Amino acid sequence: MINVTKSYLPPRENLDRYIDRIYASGWMTNNGALVNELENRLKSMLGVDFLLPVANGTLALQVAFRVLGLKGSVVTTPFSFVATTSSLVWEHLQPIFADIDPETFNLDPAAALKAIRPDTSAFLPVHVFGNACEVAAFADLAEERGLRVVYDAAHAFGVFAGEESVLNYGDASILSFHATKIFHTIEGGAVIFRKEEDYHKARLMINFGISGYDRVDQLGINCKMNEFQAAMGLAVLDEFESLHQLRRLLWERYRLAFNGLQNIRLQKTGPLFENNFSYFPVVFESEEKMMEIRNRLNAADIFPRRYFYPSLNNLCYIGESQSCPVSESLASRILCLPLYAELDPADQQRIIHTITELL
Ligand SMILES: *Cc1c(COP(=O)(O)O)cnc(C)c1O
Repeated sequence: MINVTKSYLPPRENLDRYIDRIYASGWMTNNGALVNELENRLKSMLGVDFLLPVANGTLALQVAFRVLGLKGSVVTTPFSFVATTSSLVWEHLQPIFADIDPETFNLDPAAALKAIRPDTSAFLPVHVFGNACEVAAFADLAEERGLRVVYDAAHAFGVFAGEESVLNYGDASILSFHATKIFHTIEGGAVIFRKEEDYHKARLMINFGISGYDRVDQLGINCKMNEFQAAMGLAVLDEFESLHQLRRLLWERYRLAFNGLQNIRLQKTGPLFENNFSYFPVVFESEEKMMEIRNRLNAADIFPRRYFYPSLNNLCYIGESQSCPVSESLASRILCLPLYAELDPADQQRIIHTITELL
């Protein structure tokens, strides 16, 4: 069975080297040595100054909203994983959906501008499938309107333009380190702030607001990453470069096979930021065609996924109906094809062949 992704398990002896350190120290959580080491390695690898590991990516969003003091409504994209919207609603913020660009699949800055309401406090765009948003346009809009920008960068691990990380835009960005993501800690995530003071606030917030012995300085909750999560992260990080190269080859093979074909569209990536080869979405002419191709692949034990469906403006707990025709149309016709470092190139050929045959 071939799924859209396969969680990467590092060689057992590599993971054990890190776990041995936990057994030696007896320290399992609360600002441990492995979490600190992971924080430092990620900061230098990703080119960011203030990165805080947390328990998962959804909590990273919630912490970012709290630290930045968002209130009222937030203009966001309908084309993302459900956590982008659910984290807002969970924090009593109202999502306002603005439509996406049909080519890049990202929140359209012009549509986002039109969607602003008197109580809007922020934009929440997503670098969907690792494709960087129009970060300069959102920076200008935010400045003009006095709004915050939080990027859901769950897919944008290691996305750069030259030396510049995409994570350095906005007031905060979040990453997800869920087992299905290209870098993972089983469950986990991180929040990246532009300002040092926000990072320090978040550090207290994720540990109940405790600032020292017998001291609680602010409201907090528990979002800490533990040492076992960090051990997995460090072991995966050791292999990341070679995994990235394998994924790049697979991504380029898909691209070569489908680019320019009549009845299929690909995400327009770049030109500024390089993609991280984490997903390969393909868009068909109609929902019927997509279903036909999915059924044929399923019959061969191949399971691409409808990322992302439904369009989030249609979630059952969004009270007011907000129409986003571009996102709804895309969501109904898109499939993400299997893409992971260990995917056998022969299996990939089978996938490509099955699809092109039915086009
Ligand atoms: C995976 C993901 C999240 C949530 O991350 P978790 O670590 O699973 O909580 C948020 N946003 C997007 C776009 C994601 O893909």
